[in-house]
Amino acid sequence: MTFHVLTIFPEFYRGPFEFGVLARARKMGLLRTRVWDLRNWSFDRHRTVDDRPFGGGEGMVLKAEPVFLAAEEILPARDVSRQRIVLMSAQGARFDQAAAARLGTYQDVLLICGRYEGVDERVSEKLADEELSIGDYVLSGGELAAAVVVDAVARLIPGVLGNEESARQESFSLEPILDYPHYTRPAVFRGWSVPEVLLGGNHDEIRRWRRGAAREKTLRLRPDLLERK
Ligand code: SAH
Repeated sequence: MTFHVLTIFPEFYRGPFEFGVLARARKMGLLRTRVWDLRNWSFDRHRTVDDRPFGGGEGMVLKAEPVFLAAEEILPARDVSRQRIVLMSAQGARFDQAAAARLGTYQDVLLICGRYEGVDERVSEKLADEELSIGDYVLSGGELAAAVVVDAVARLIPGVLGNEESARQESFSLEPILDYPHYTRPAVFRGWSVPEVLLGGNHDEIRRWRRGAAREKTLRLRPDLLERK
């Protein structure tokens, strides 16, 4: 699949897509990332993409026209069953593991990154298929949020993680429960021991312990997940 990111700061993505799982997925050809500079669709002398808000008030607003022109050029043959246009927005539905799995079914996903006070509302009303928020807080731009989305979706693409099991067993994946605790060597660190059962090699017992520990940790850190069931 291909992620297209539309931003006024394309340089931002020198970092996020260049490491670890994402870098490997791109190298293996399982994931394509294309970063597009919104200013390429602004045609005045200063390549302006923002303007003052109608009705007055603070800050600037990203103009509708460059965003529409960009989307129309990035996804020229609009096929809503295989392409998804997402506006990154603090007001959107919460991005979660289920949303990641859902986005992973599209061939192309275009993530539109807002800046300043946001994006002309006609982008939300007439262009985007959905708005997504990564949490109830306000960021200064959609770029970090879009990187979060790309990362979470990429690790669900078959073949991206070395071990197919790891994506399925992770937090939130099968049931609304957190991952079990992980430990590695040394078995004793500053006097704190790894749970005995993990050293024993009895795989039934280990599986049972992990299920219990995952539940205990979910109860302690995220009781809301268990209540939602
Ligand atoms: N005035 C807006 C916030 C604008 S922040 C409001 O109060 O809702 C500027 C841009 O950052 C937004 O257009 C959006 O693209 C991005 N952004 C901010 N918070 C975000 C969040 N929690 N999730 C996703 N994108 C976010």
